[in-house]
Amino acid sequence: MIIVAAPSGAGKSSFVERLTKENDRLVDIVTFTTRNIRKGETNGLQYHFINHDEFQKKISDNFFVEWAKVHTNFYGTSYESIENAWKQGKTAIMDIDIQGVLTFKSKYPDAKTIFIVPPSIDELRRRIEKRDGGVPADIEVRMANAEKELREADKFDYQIVNDNFDHSFAQFKKIVEELLG
Ligand code: 5GP
Repeated sequence: MIIVAAPSGAGKSSFVERLTKENDRLVDIVTFTTRNIRKGETNGLQYHFINHDEFQKKISDNFFVEWAKVHTNFYGTSYESIENAWKQGKTAIMDIDIQGVLTFKSKYPDAKTIFIVPPSIDELRRRIEKRDGGVPADIEVRMANAEKELREADKFDYQIVNDNFDHSFAQFKKIVEELLG
């Protein structure tokens, strides 16, 4: 299992999406969220978008390996999605927040963790605004969380600075391929 984390907007989902397309030994885990669907997203592709009541029900049904409140919404990873990847003999790769990483590490100590560091906090803000087509309502929460997460970067097995997509992606790919052996 390979877990990728980074502050919102640092580019981790593009890394994971692209590498999963290139390497059929990986399965990109689709997690669950209560946040609103963004323009360009499809239910079941970036996330399974569910409402708050459905999310609470899944928590009580012990459906999630881990779940966390991230920014202002809930996010969670199902046991089922990880087990499906394993049944196919593949490696699960997923992008989750740092709280999720810590839970995963306690349940699956062999999981490898990669942290993607944005070039700067200002650049991160610019990327979030560009991606969301304006200033999202929770931008300040996201920025405060980014600063908090950056302080935790040294807890990860690997760190990559995303200053140039192609260059950083090449580094990411090399690390993952080495982990796959
Ligand atoms: P976004 O709303 O920008 O897609 O994602 C917000 C944050 O939630 C990102 O840091 C993303 O990695 C994280 N996230 C996505 N799915 C999960 C999950 O299943 N568990 C946890 N803990 N975090 C998640």
